[in-house]
Amino acid sequence: MAEARGRKPKRRKQAVATTTVSPAERRLRAYIDSVAAPLDSRIVGALRRIPATPRRLLALKYYLGRLTEVDSIWAWTTQEARAYRKTDEYRQAIAEVTRVRHLFDSLYPGYSLAAPMEIRSLEAQLRNWNSVRSVAVVADSLLDSCMVMMADTLSRFGRSDSIHAELFSTFLEAWETPVAPTVAVPGLSQHGQLRAFDFRIYRGRRLVAGATAATIERAWDSSGWTAKLKAVITLASSRFQGPLQNPYEPWHYTYVPAEPLQPEAPTKPEAEGEASAPTPFTPKGIPQGSDE
Ligand SMILES: [Zn+2]
Repeated sequence: MAEARGRKPKRRKQAVATTTVSPAERRLRAYIDSVAAPLDSRIVGALRRIPATPRRLLALKYYLGRLTEVDSIWAWTTQEARAYRKTDEYRQAIAEVTRVRHLFDSLYPGYSLAAPMEIRSLEAQLRNWNSVRSVAVVADSLLDSCMVMMADTLSRFGRSDSIHAELFSTFLEAWETPVAPTVAVPGLSQHGQLRAFDFRIYRGRRLVAGATAATIERAWDSSGWTAKLKAVITLASSRFQGPLQNPYEPWHYTYVPAEPLQPEAPTKPEAEGEASAPTPFTPKGIPQGSDE
């Protein structure tokens, strides 16, 4: 993957790097590095591009719970996105969205439904993760929990002589987020492979309901657009699931293609006498959103 290199960091940034870091925070950073080191190289690369320790720590926590999804939904590169736009599956997605839009427009004269066919790159997802406030709120809370342990000399994490990466990994995975950040951890947004659409509603040229968390109550729920959009989508197509419930995003619908682009590996023949159902994968903690 091409990365922007070559430009020297500005002097101002170097000054920031010399800010004193407490021994506890230095230990926390070492723990983050130890837990991240053996993970998929795409994850390691993304973590390197999250400079703020709290946000990097929270991203690591989410990656640990979603390792099995990396191969199937990691954000496409520009080339992969370009190739996808030539597939039948892409044409099918456009047809499904168009059907929804036409039905909406015919039922609500004067209004129109938009659904950008946006494939959100890793760069865009990283930009969101590094800037969106709802990520910082949860990340700071996680950082506080970790710092307490790193500073406690009675705890294993507080001892400077050794690193207990596995124990820390278990703690991170089990830590329950107080609220869900409004964006997905970089690389794993459903928007990275066009597996989701954010619908928005216009009256003439004026946006009356957009993909903004602060407007949900007024623009979507009280006004009735949440229910109307859901009804139209259900009527027009069977390929959409939603809207997203946690965090609540009345505009975000998951798109399920008729045939998966990359078929799963052939399923193993069932062992004789075994009739148990497969255990569904359940990531720990509150699921994340993909927007803001
Ligand atoms: Zn979305």
